[in-house]
Amino acid sequence: MKYRARSFAALSLALMLSACGSSQPETLSILAMDTAMTFSVYGDDADTVLSDASLEVRRLDALLSRTNPESAVTHLNAGDQIQVGEEVCGLIAAAQEYSAATGGAFDITLAPVSTAWGFTTDSYQVPSQEELDALLAHVGMEHIHLTEDTATLDPGTQIDLGAIAKGYASDQLGALFQRSGVERGWVSLGGNVLAWGSRPDGDPWEVGIQDPAHPDESSALVCSLFLQDAFAVTSGSYQRYFEQDGKRYHHILDPKTGAPAESGLVSVTVVADYAPGNGTMCDALSTALFVMGEEDALSFWRSGTYDFELVLVTEDGRVLVTEGLADRYAPAEGSTYVFETVS
Ligand code: AMP
Ligand code: MG
Repeated sequence: MKYRARSFAALSLALMLSACGSSQPETLSILAMDTAMTFSVYGDDADTVLSDASLEVRRLDALLSRTNPESAVTHLNAGDQIQVGEEVCGLIAAAQEYSAATGGAFDITLAPVSTAWGFTTDSYQVPSQEELDALLAHVGMEHIHLTEDTATLDPGTQIDLGAIAKGYASDQLGALFQRSGVERGWVSLGGNVLAWGSRPDGDPWEVGIQDPAHPDESSALVCSLFLQDAFAVTSGSYQRYFEQDGKRYHHILDPKTGAPAESGLVSVTVVADYAPGNGTMCDALSTALFVMGEEDALSFWRSGTYDFELVLVTEDGRVLVTEGLADRYAPAEGSTYVFETVS
């Protein structure tokens, strides 16, 4: 059996790092939320901002992780009568909104199903259909009961905020940068990037989208995006998977079947301008639109329900870029993908 135990940064920041111009940033890398994270900040207070950023991400990890035995989410999943507080309830409410908006493609109650596949423990297995059906009886956002500061789950239901927590963390870091008067910098939380301000030379940051065919080579890109004051979040089937009997099983699950989504997509990148809450939105939507597949994802984009742009990489080697990014991307040199702009 072959497996990848850790999620990999879906967006490569190598190009951003090499393009910093004259003034130098302070940069900090940490491991949190089961992901390698890097923060880079320019300015006199950069050291303080970086240390505050690290503290904030660790605080959220301790609150939201379902593998931390003391987190609010762990207590909630255990059925303990605790007041999880307004912040956790606010994030669950956001998850409810994105679940409803995407016809249930986004569903944080898949936690027990994800566990059955071994994605939480890294001891992978293919569950039987009977096992999945039994677990799916407890999946569905209607099993969560929410007030402003309390949440309760129906018996058998558990939640996993893994598809939205890093996006929320990037929102929090944006707020920190704003409060601290940071003029420029960037944040990479696994596949979640916040490009803050511009490069010192005034150009936008260059953010590379990882080539799903070569997930181990951070310099192997599908294309670059040129972004300023924006979030970019990628979900991909290459980020966490195992192989058994020649078949690949990845970590993004279809709530209808409890199995890895077979949507014809290999990665989905959602891009939105910086605004409070948009990091959370990009994270939720990248996961949901991966499940929905090309046609439904593009219909959802066209519906205008939310203001965002997309880069979809398909199993058959196409890259679909929505028109709002048409003049903000460049295919990687020598790329064999076929690029199409979508309107
Ligand atoms: P992301 O990398 O943001 O796409 O999140 C993927 C993670 O979210 C998985 O590792 C699971 O923990 C969880 N997850 C899987 N499928 C879904 C889904 N359909 N909706 C919400 N969360 C999911
Ligand atoms: Mg996500």
